[in-house]
Formats: sequence, C-alpha cells, structure tokens
Amino acid sequence: MTADPQFRDSAVKAVHHQFRVVGAGPTGSLLALGLAQQGFFVVLSDRLSAELLLNRSRAYAITHSSRRLLQDLGLWTALLDQMEPFCSLRLDDCFAHRTAWFNVRDLRPGNRSSEAIGWILDHRPLMNLLLERLECSDHVELQLDQASPAEDPLVKACSRDWIVAADGPRSMLRRRAEVPFWSHAYQQGCLTAKLRLTGADQHCAYELFRPEGPMAVLPLGQDRYQVVWSAPLQRCRDRAASSPAELLSALDAILPDGVNVVQLLDDPGAFPLELSLALRLHRGSLLLVGEAAHRCHPVGGQGLNLCWRDVSDLLNLTEAVRHGDIAPTSLARRYSRCRRFDLASVLLATDLLIRFFSNHNPLLMPFRRLALFMLKNVSWIRRLSLSAMTDGPGTLLKTLPK
Ligand SMILES: Cc1cc2nc3c(=O)[nH]c(=O)nc-3n(C[C@H](O)[C@H](O)[C@H](O)COP(=O)(O)OP(=O)(O)OC[C@H]3O[C@@H](n4cnc5c(N)ncnc54)[C@H](O)[C@@H]3O)c2cc1C
Repeated sequence: MTADPQFRDSAVKAVHHQFRVVGAGPTGSLLALGLAQQGFFVVLSDRLSAELLLNRSRAYAITHSSRRLLQDLGLWTALLDQMEPFCSLRLDDCFAHRTAWFNVRDLRPGNRSSEAIGWILDHRPLMNLLLERLECSDHVELQLDQASPAEDPLVKACSRDWIVAADGPRSMLRRRAEVPFWSHAYQQGCLTAKLRLTGADQHCAYELFRPEGPMAVLPLGQDRYQVVWSAPLQRCRDRAASSPAELLSALDAILPDGVNVVQLLDDPGAFPLELSLALRLHRGSLLLVGEAAHRCHPVGGQGLNLCWRDVSDLLNLTEAVRHGDIAPTSLARRYSRCRRFDLASVLLATDLLIRFFSNHNPLLMPFRRLALFMLKNVSWIRRLSLSAMTDGPGTLLKTLPK
C-alpha cells in the first residue's frame, strides 16, 4: 500500500479511534485482542458471562492461515500444548469406494516446517487464553454478561467509533442496520460428539463422504476424537436423542474398517446448517466479521478459519490506517471489498463439494472416481487443493507471508 501524505496527519489520531466489538466468541475476542495490540481502544461486550463463553463442547480444526494469525498475535506458543496436530488427512468417497491421502509433503514449502497439515483445538483452552489476555490488556474494556445492552451500540457510537458485529449468525446489529443478507438452509444438519476410538491413527484426520452427508473424525489426543457428522437434520436430531448404545452402534457401522467406538465422552448435539453471506460487510461505520457475516457447511473444517481470515484482513487494514497508509474513512469499504473473493470462493467450494458427494447419483459416479483418482495420483492437484483449504483460495497465486 502506498503512503499518501494526505492521510499522514490522521495517522497518529487513528489510535484514538475506538472499536466497539459486540460478541466475544472466538472471532470477536481475537479481533479485540489484535486491535488492542495495535494500540486501539476496544470495548468488547457479550450477553454471556465468561463461564458460559468457555462452556461449549466443540473442537475446531485449525488451518495454516489461522496458525499465522495466532503467531502474529503472540498466542501460538501458549496454545501449542493444547492442540493436537494431524500429519495426514484421509479422504474417503464411501459410495464410490475410493480413498485419497494428503500429507505434510503436499503443503506449500512455507508451511512444511510446522510438520502438520492442521491442528485440532478445543474451545475451552482457546477461549480461556483469549479472555485471560483480554482481561490483562489496558486497551480493552470487557463487558460480559450484558443480558441486554443498556444502549444500542449503533446509536451510542460517536463519529470516531467503528462498531464491529461479531455477534454470530443471528446478528442483531446486522439486522438493525439492514445489511443485505442472503441465506440458504441446507436439508442437512450436523451432529457433533466426542468419543474414544480404537484402531484410528492418532495423527490422522478423516473426511468421509457419505451419500447422506460428509463426516469428519478429528483427533483430540490419545484415543479421543470429535466426530462432525452431517446428515438430514431430523436424522441428526434422532441420533442425538437416541441412547448412547444406539448411537455408538450406528457410528461403528460407518467408521472405516478397523476403527471402532469405545465410549461416548459428551452429550451429542445436533444443529441445522446453512449457507449465508452478507452481500456487503459494512454499512457506515458498522463492520461485520465472522458468522455475523457468513456461514458455510462444516465440510473441510473451513468455518472458524474463514472467520479468522476476516480478522486477519481487517487487522492488516487497521494497521495501514494506523500508519496513515489509508484513510480511516475508507476502512469499512476496503475491508468489505478485500474479503469478497475469499468468502465467495470458500462458500461456493464447500457448497459444490456437498452437492457433488452427498448423493447416490450414478451419473456423477465416473466424475467422483476421476476426482479421487486425480487427488490420489497427481501431486500438484493435491497441493493446490490443500493450499486452497489451509491457506485460503485467495493465496493460490501469491507467495505466503513468512
Ligand atoms: C451448535 C454448534 C456446534 C458447532 N460445532 C463446531 C465444531 O465442532 N467445530 C467447528 O469448527 N465449528 C463448530 N461450529 C461453528 C463454530 O462454532 C463457529 O464457526 C464459530 O463459533 C464462529 O465464531 P463467531 O465468534 O463468529 O460466532 P459465535 O461463536 O456464534 O459468537 C457470537 C457471540 O456473540 C454473542 N452475541 C450474540 N448476540 C449478541 C448480542 N445481541 N449482544 C451481545 N452479544 C451477543 C454470543 O453470545 C456469542 O458469544 C459449531 C456451531 C454451532 C452453532
């Protein structure tokens, strides 16, 4: 970006701008921390208490784009002990009976030194660290457990404030600001459960494409795994409500040969899935980040990583504002524009994957076999697909940041 002398005067003043971030989930909290580290003053609010924010039973697949952001924000080393790396990814088309493997050699050279394709991180240690760091920061005012904010942030904000909606898929701020929003409910839902398995490779993540929907099996360390099992929503709900013995035997029937379930470790949950996108990520000084702006199918573990690429791009822009390289008044517009390609391509790619693999259509069978054959035998196709998944499609033609 070129430094324009016209903006230089406003550069120093930029740090006096205040961000009001509504929603302290993984996206809002990480953004607030990044902004505070840049010297901005941040008010971060959530209707949940710290205990409820910590209390979600879910695990995230962390990609290399998220690794870079966590490293930049000084969080990576503290999280490394809490994460489970996986060095291979097994892709099965269970209907076409074809398998392909990805491993560390398929990563771009800049990522290989990490010796992992990705990491599985539990929600609690992540949020614990984020809240701990936020509490220590003198640039952050944390307002948790605010059942209904005393004042509407859209009204309360002064002209130098930016308001960030990180308040999740049902974003109240997005709706109040009437940001154009497109949403499509999938017929599929998703069941998540933590399990103990025998016979599974401890350092391998599995993505099984089944006609009813994809299923991911993610290593949590030792013999613990999380399954993210997509299927018609009502079937997910019935399975979640069934007895542990029934659920375990249903799982046993579909896991790869030699992999068996030993024990259920939490209460399985079923939730609906949707594809949604705000057609612009700003209105006035309101910015949308994370699931307030978009949502996609969990296939390929893109969800949270996509949310964190919003954070990463926004932080690059606020840094440029701080240095006077761009005008504060153009921040929101530039942010909205620079996220367009990444969001559209990931949403489209995940949707196409679901349409292509979640069916019994015999006409698609030759193409599915060909796709798995190419992934198995052509290394540059494996590299390209893995890079799109882990670095984001927007980086395919670029050199990776160090
Ligand atoms: C049931 C369920 C299970 C999931 N399981 C997995 C999984 O296993 N693995 C995975 O990778 N992803 C999973 N996901 C997706 C993942 O949780 C999201 O990608 C991630 O949480 C998005 O983070 P976010 O911060 O953008 O939104 P959220 O995590 O939704 O955070 C939004 C925050 O805003 C707060 N908020 C909402 N409205 C207001 C308001 N009016 N005022 C103040 N605060 C407000 C909420 O309390 C919440 O803390 C799951 C999602 C759901 C719904």
